[in-house]
Amino acid sequence: MTARVLVVDDILANIKLLEARLTAEYFDVLTAMNGPEALEICQRAKCDVILLDIMMPGMDGFEVCRRLKANPETQFIPVVMVTALDQPSDKIAGLEAGADDFLTKPVSDIALITRVKSLARLKTLTDELRMRSATSRDMGITEELDYMKDRRIDNGRVLIVDDRKSSYERIAKALKVKHDVEIEIDPCEAVFRAAESDYELFVVSLNFKDYDGLRLCSQIRSLERMRHIPVLIVVEPEDNARLLRGLDLGVNDYIIRPVDSNELLARADTQLRRKRYTDMLRSTVQHSMELAITDGLTGLHNRRYLENHLQTLVNEATSRGKPLSVVIVDIDYFKSVNDTHGHDAGDDVLREFSQRIKSNLRSVDLACRYGGEEFVIAMPETDMLVASRVAERLRQRVAEREFVIQDGSMSIPITISAGVASLSHLDDSAEQLLKRADQALYCAKRDGRNRIVADAA
Ligand code: GH3
Ligand code: MG
Ligand code: MG
Repeated sequence: MTARVLVVDDILANIKLLEARLTAEYFDVLTAMNGPEALEICQRAKCDVILLDIMMPGMDGFEVCRRLKANPETQFIPVVMVTALDQPSDKIAGLEAGADDFLTKPVSDIALITRVKSLARLKTLTDELRMRSATSRDMGITEELDYMKDRRIDNGRVLIVDDRKSSYERIAKALKVKHDVEIEIDPCEAVFRAAESDYELFVVSLNFKDYDGLRLCSQIRSLERMRHIPVLIVVEPEDNARLLRGLDLGVNDYIIRPVDSNELLARADTQLRRKRYTDMLRSTVQHSMELAITDGLTGLHNRRYLENHLQTLVNEATSRGKPLSVVIVDIDYFKSVNDTHGHDAGDDVLREFSQRIKSNLRSVDLACRYGGEEFVIAMPETDMLVASRVAERLRQRVAEREFVIQDGSMSIPITISAGVASLSHLDDSAEQLLKRADQALYCAKRDGRNRIVADAA
């Protein structure tokens, strides 16, 4: 992926320098000489990372950053402030304006390239999630999430992993101002602790007495449960080699000793904000995927899901030489329920029927609403004989007790017909299986309804 980087600086020589280094690393570079021009470019061109000079005449870098972060269309673009002054107060002001990182002039190559790379990578990830969540938003399933909504980030659950008392006390003191902080001095123990709790941020020292803190970072990144938890490492100045290794391992941010408490707090905020936002996005995407495969009225799987999943079940059964059966169930004379008692009564019957299906199946069986009053049940590892019995039992459960409609004011008799088919040939497809069950269902209807017919094949 070629990330596009926008370099903003009022001095042409600075722009040329950064542009040359970034181009050498195959980034696609755009440039702007002042704030308004930068904002304008962000509006029309897709930028993945912005390198923003702080001191510029007119609109300064802080203001540009604030505007970018206040605009829903640009708030996701990572901003790196480039400052000539190595002043903690500048860093704090930048982070408060919403900046994602800093580089100090003269900018070192290592810092420049690693920060830009890691931010571009992060942007790709959030773009993907945002795109999916946008789809469900367009479908009216979910609402827009606002990245900057929680202006104040507090009560973060933070685990500090560090075995030097003076060091972890200093870090804990800074973070405790607004977060829940725990300390673990044994890095091996930290992995277990982390796997069992729901921390939102790890602060990991790279200066253990006899342990390589990078090993812990690598473990955190490789464990599924922790992959999405940000890691901030604490490094000695001049320890560039290990810092680089850490960034390569996927560490999210770093802070250099001696730890400045305001900078630490601000960096923790950025990580926690991102974490909370991506968690929200992920659960939105998850939720909308669930909705997309679920039938709204009955809560069963829908036809789309069945059509995708049945072939998987067929392949699985075929390759393992196991049986697989499907039952197509159709409610008898359902149209007359609607005609006599109204559409809502019909819906009541569909819901109640789905309940009776669910309570009569094993959890491995897959029940779907296939169409209006037509349902499909797929039963793995089940042969024709057993599947027919299950269908017969369901038929009885439907016929033996009337269905309550109209808020309990009335109940009506309902019956069902069903066709059963099983996998028989090695080259049987899901489609053929369904077709045979459907033909059997047709026979059940033709022969008088309220009955089960097994496919003869
Ligand atoms: P058969 O015994 O041959 O199956 O007759 P039937 O009346 O059940 O079948 P038909 O296909 O003629 O009618 C099905 C009816 O189901 C027609 C349609 O209006 C109704 N229907 C489809 N979806 C829904 C729904 O979501 N809610 C309600 N209340 N009715 C639905
Ligand atoms: Mg300047
Ligand atoms: Mg029917």
